Amino acid sequence: MKNLPIILLAILTGLIMACTPTRTKVPKGDINYELVKSQEEWKSLLSPQQFRVLRGHGTERAFSGAFWDHKNEGTYICAACNLPLFSSDTKFKSGTGWPSYYQPIDSASVGSTIDRSYGMTRIEVHCNRCGGHLGHVFRDGPRPTGLRYCINSVSLDFVPKGEEISLKY
Ligand SMILES: [Zn+2]
Repeated sequence: MKNLPIILLAILTGLIMACTPTRTKVPKGDINYELVKSQEEWKSLLSPQQFRVLRGHGTERAFSGAFWDHKNEGTYICAACNLPLFSSDTKFKSGTGWPSYYQPIDSASVGSTIDRSYGMTRIEVHCNRCGGHLGHVFRDGPRPTGLRYCINSVSLDFVPKGEEISLKY
C-alpha cells in the first residue's frame, strides 16, 4: 500500500475539481442572475444616480427619493429591469425617509446577501433577475412579517394599478 497517499491525493484532487464551477467568468455579483450585463452596459443604460445605487451598492439620502412618501396604489418594479418587486398594499410609513415594505410581491424576486460594510452586519436585498441593489431588510417591521424592507427610491419605478408591466431586456 505504498501508493495509498498518491491515491488519496488523486481522489481529493478529483473532489476539488468536481466542486469548481466550469462556467465562464461573469462580473462579480452577477453570477446566476437571469439578466447579466457588464458594468459598462449598465452605465450606459442607467442614470448616474441609478448606477451608483443599483450597481455600486450606494444609498440615496433619506427623504430625498421619489417614493418615501408616495401613496398611490400600484406596483413598484426594479428600475433596471422592470421586475415587479413590491406592492403598494405592503408599503408602510416607517419614518426613515426611504420607501418601506413588509414583504415582496414574490419572495423569489428579491434575493438577499449578508452585508458587513461600515462595521455593521446587515442583510442586503437585490433584484433576483438583474442583481441590482435595492436596499436592506431589517427585523423591526410591522405585522404580519415583522420585516422592514428599506429600499432606495432610485432602485424602483412605479406602475399605477391596472397598467401593464413588461420586463426590460
Ligand atoms: Zn432588476
